[in-house]
Amino acid sequence: MTISTLPHPKIDAQLTKNLINNKWVDSIHGRTFETINPATGEVICKVAQADAIDVDRAVEAARTAFTTGDWSKLSPRDRGRLLYKLADLMETHQEELAQLETLDNGKPITESRTIDLPLAIACYRYYAGWADKMHGKTIPVDGSFFSYTRHEPIGVVGQIIPWNFPLLMQAWKLAPALAMGNTVVLKPATQTPLSALRVGELILEAGFPPGAVNILPGSGSVVGTAIARHPDIDKVAFTGSTEVGHRILEAAAQTNLKRVTLELGGKSPNIVLADADLDAAIEGAHFGLFLNQGQCCTAGSRLFVQKSCYEEFISRSIERAKNRIVGDPFDPKTEQGAQVSQTQFNRIMHYIESGMREGAQLRYGGNRVGDRGFFIQPTIFSDVRDNMTIAREEIFGPVMSIIPFETIEEVVQRANATQYGLAAAVWTRDITKAHAIAHRLQAGTVWINCYDALDPAAPFGGFKQSGIGRELGEYGLHEYTEVKTVTVKLS
Ligand code: NAP
Ligand code: MG
Repeated sequence: MTISTLPHPKIDAQLTKNLINNKWVDSIHGRTFETINPATGEVICKVAQADAIDVDRAVEAARTAFTTGDWSKLSPRDRGRLLYKLADLMETHQEELAQLETLDNGKPITESRTIDLPLAIACYRYYAGWADKMHGKTIPVDGSFFSYTRHEPIGVVGQIIPWNFPLLMQAWKLAPALAMGNTVVLKPATQTPLSALRVGELILEAGFPPGAVNILPGSGSVVGTAIARHPDIDKVAFTGSTEVGHRILEAAAQTNLKRVTLELGGKSPNIVLADADLDAAIEGAHFGLFLNQGQCCTAGSRLFVQKSCYEEFISRSIERAKNRIVGDPFDPKTEQGAQVSQTQFNRIMHYIESGMREGAQLRYGGNRVGDRGFFIQPTIFSDVRDNMTIAREEIFGPVMSIIPFETIEEVVQRANATQYGLAAAVWTRDITKAHAIAHRLQAGTVWINCYDALDPAAPFGGFKQSGIGRELGEYGLHEYTEVKTVTVKLS
């Protein structure tokens, strides 16, 4: 496999620092970490590694911006204007940002261009429009009183994001928080800090006042923990593993009861009924699992297919997987790039081994591709049983488990028999049946005859251990406001 390292954008010095109070600074202890190009395993550059003491510094800047700084003086409409400006700047630099994302994450350039960037920009614009529309209510209370509510910002918000969609997760976090008037200390994932920092440069260019947005690359165990425990952070928003989600909630409980929203893992059921348009279902299931090298919290990783079309579905899914173009992330024809890191690569290979060991049928793939970088074949297991490890745990890789079922009653019950509840999908030509099933599935999002159809206006989040709270849409805004009731005695 030939891997091109070019074209990719030049990494200027600022992209390797921390952004605190609108200044690019080294971490106080001067430590750095390396970020890797997953397609080659080579180091792209070293980045300033923040520590707990840098978090203190950033929180101080964010607090000042929130209470007395220029940010606190902006009207909601002016905050919206800044967000529009940022979206415009991202659009101007769209190709450069797409290349940076592909370089640091290993995802195909075509996906960076057509999915990550457009969705991230749309998210900033969507919330820019909301900035001056989040008003309270007047409440008809008993007695001679006038009562109304205000939706006020929460304060300083800590945001911790993962590496699978770095720019998009940054947009989902920053846009609603800033639209509502909060200030932010954001930690990107160590695997993928570069695009977050480039957006930091654009934030300065757009004219955001000092301290509104602070960006601190550094490890989860140090910077993430410091954010979760910080007594002067009012809310933490986290996306990542369920395991770390538990820790964030514990830290909040042990310190200042900061508000916590969590967007965690999933083991989403994708249910194909025999009366579905099979062409669409096969392509949709392929997309819903292999998108982003399988590194999606929504991945349709329990693919339930009704018995009467089970064998046909498997053989045609194998054909589709064989045609999947795996390789150089910078080649526009590539459909599947590299897994994000050696750690994730190893984790996925262990899951593939466990599938074979526990008796699932490996029908396609299962091997590494090439001899450098972290590429894995699209992999398909059939005859997967619900109690197997690959049917229970989040793999976060290109591993499809096709599971047979007979009746709707049975599949609904099995689909819900998981600790997770992030997403689900149903494929059928019978739309009445589809709605009935959708209403019974325990998931924050249910897609009917489509998969991963995401829009900034449509709320997203998990039931059960897939999370707490919602992102996106109007619902997402409420997670960044406190409701204040003001009551006035009349006469
Ligand atoms: P992770 O550890 O949950 O990482 C997500 C973010 O949390 C990263 O920024 C990480 O920092 C940070 N973090 C780690 N430990 C922390 C702690 N104790 N306190 C606060 N923040 C902390 O996930 P991962 O290790 O990268 O991936 C492991 C698995 O998590 C994946 O295989 C997948 O199953 C799941 N995952 C889910 C999502 C999702 O979208 N729901 C995203 C990523 C991963 P670092 O920079 O140190 O990593
Ligand atoms: Mg990287």
